[in-house]
Amino acid sequence: MAILSPLPSFAAIVVAAGKGLRVGGEVPKQFRQWRGKPLVRHSVEALLDAGAQPLVVVIGADAQTEAEAALAGLVGVRFVTGGASRQDSVRNGLEALARDSPLCVLIHDAARPDLPFAVIERLLAALASHPGAIPVLPVVDSLALAGNDGLMAGKAVRESLRRVQTPQAFGYSAILAAHRGWTGATEAGDDAQVLVASSGSVALVDGDERLKKITFAEDFVDIVTASGAAPAFRIGQGYDVHRLEVGEELWLCGVLVPHDKGLSGHSDADVALHAITDAVLGAIGAGDIGTHFPPSDPQWRGARSAQFLTHAVKLAREAGYEIGNVDLTLVCEAPKIGPHRPAMRIAVAQIMGTAESAVSIKATTTEKLGFTGRGEGIAAQAIVALHLA
Ligand code: MG
Repeated sequence: MAILSPLPSFAAIVVAAGKGLRVGGEVPKQFRQWRGKPLVRHSVEALLDAGAQPLVVVIGADAQTEAEAALAGLVGVRFVTGGASRQDSVRNGLEALARDSPLCVLIHDAARPDLPFAVIERLLAALASHPGAIPVLPVVDSLALAGNDGLMAGKAVRESLRRVQTPQAFGYSAILAAHRGWTGATEAGDDAQVLVASSGSVALVDGDERLKKITFAEDFVDIVTASGAAPAFRIGQGYDVHRLEVGEELWLCGVLVPHDKGLSGHSDADVALHAITDAVLGAIGAGDIGTHFPPSDPQWRGARSAQFLTHAVKLAREAGYEIGNVDLTLVCEAPKIGPHRPAMRIAVAQIMGTAESAVSIKATTTEKLGFTGRGEGIAAQAIVALHLA
């Protein structure tokens, strides 16, 4: 990409010194797997591809082994030990570039793995006329000021506010001098604030929603084998039962099926989509449907189950996996599934963003035995295979 669109030369600092405790787990989040690679590797690769040279990764004092493993094989990466705060860590990174004395430097947080090339282009273009440039996004929600009493104390004008992302881009000598001259009593929120405190102007360029910070455990699907690599295949299974009752609609595989009874329960009670959702979640070790959409939460009452499956598939894709195939078995005495099978395959394929040929829907009775045989309920069993994208 750098060849197609020549950029001014620049260095980069990726801050990966945090302990990442908020996402849970023992490995700091910047070294955990995300979309098939350690989190930190995504943005380091994006910066190297864009031409960053040299590139300094700031790491914790005891993280050298993990960092080297996470960035194995990448050329032009240096490691520097971080400080007590993020600001100290950035300062260490900047000092480590003193001998190189680059014209520009991009300072980035490892917790923002999805770094579009266009953002780097916009930042470097803005540096032509300002010593600093940062990517920002508008605030879309209305804003309330919180009082100490837990009541709304006022409003803020969202039109004048921006959400700030990284990387932040600076003239190297300007940001180094600003960090060295920092006299604030508390830590600055980011490097742009450090530059502004030394009277440097900071241009705002368009950020990108993809640059969002990975913070909470829900963003993370931690898939790694003992060897440290993401497995090529994952398999999950799901099982669900719902009760048949008069007066309910019968939704199966996202299709409304005419019948004298329907399924009752959580959401639209689409037992088939629930089983497939659990199979996808099972394949990536991300809990079950109740973890993500608690039946006790009133917002899911009567909800379309397609959104549960869409969410599970999104998590699988974020973990680096694509749908291989789905095999579903519906267990019921009535209605007959055969006439609805084509529509069901199309619906499931659409919800999962996969080919119809990847979706198998089968049905069986239990010879009038048990609750399914007596027509009291419908059971569904699903198996899903995922492969690395
Ligand atoms: Mg269910």
